[in-house]
Amino acid sequence: MLLVGIDLGGTAIKAGAISSEGKIVARREIPSALERGASDLLDRMAQLARDLGAQSSVGMGVPGLVDIAGGRVLQSPNLAVIERVRLVAELAQRLALPASSVHLENDANAAAIGEHWLGCGRNERDLLFVTLGTGVGGGLILDGGLYAGPGGMAGEIGHVVVDPDGPRCGCGSRGCLEQLASASAASRRAQAAGLPRSAPGNLVRLAQEARAAVGPERELLVAIGRDLGRGLASAISILDLRCFVVGGGFGAALDVMLPGVREGIAERCYGERLASVRVAQAELGADAGWIGAARLGMLRSRA
Ligand SMILES: [Zn+2]
Repeated sequence: MLLVGIDLGGTAIKAGAISSEGKIVARREIPSALERGASDLLDRMAQLARDLGAQSSVGMGVPGLVDIAGGRVLQSPNLAVIERVRLVAELAQRLALPASSVHLENDANAAAIGEHWLGCGRNERDLLFVTLGTGVGGGLILDGGLYAGPGGMAGEIGHVVVDPDGPRCGCGSRGCLEQLASASAASRRAQAAGLPRSAPGNLVRLAQEARAAVGPERELLVAIGRDLGRGLASAISILDLRCFVVGGGFGAALDVMLPGVREGIAERCYGERLASVRVAQAELGADAGWIGAARLGMLRSRA
């Protein structure tokens, strides 16, 4: 069976076709061009799915709060254009497929499914996928399947409070993990630490400097890692999780943050289990979202 997956982002739509055995058949990427409106966006997503050979199943991962039963996104700060649009019904109609063949999921949840299926979580029963991008997203796999909770918001590690006196967060709280360890937070912290070469958008450079030598860049990334570890510790305490998969653009700096991550976890968790906690870099990169979205076609048709 050929599965088509679409990962809708603020700047790009990434999509691909994959067999039910996990063999990638094709990949495509087009600009999101959100300014053209929802109807145009749906037309282009439908064309993309057709180009990829969609016949029986299409899955979509989208940022925001998703209403699975209603096939729409309730709230999406970065993609307001799709809020309340009946994405599943509209795409199904354009593809002449039954609505039951089109599947919708939050993008971080989709990426968690992707990494669990074919990425670095493939041998794990339970894991938390953490994406470090503009914000911090999360997707929770428990007992081998996605656990999204009744409102679809389970696993949102980005809003676990790490520092009660920390920066104010968009969610209304203070010192959330997102405000300390997202790509945006890292840029802000780099500037505050007087590391101008790592100005916003130059986190790759920051990580390179940190790898090259001991210095303020490495200190900063280890400190950010420590905050990340403190956040992950909450998930360990509640769920006894042993596997964390870190993705997103800034997740590429995990190797330099890792000593801090382990310190942060050790500081807030106890027991021999700490030795078996695995914090690993995501393997599928930008493909995780569309691969997980495609996989929805298999998971939901079985349900
Ligand atoms: Zn928050």
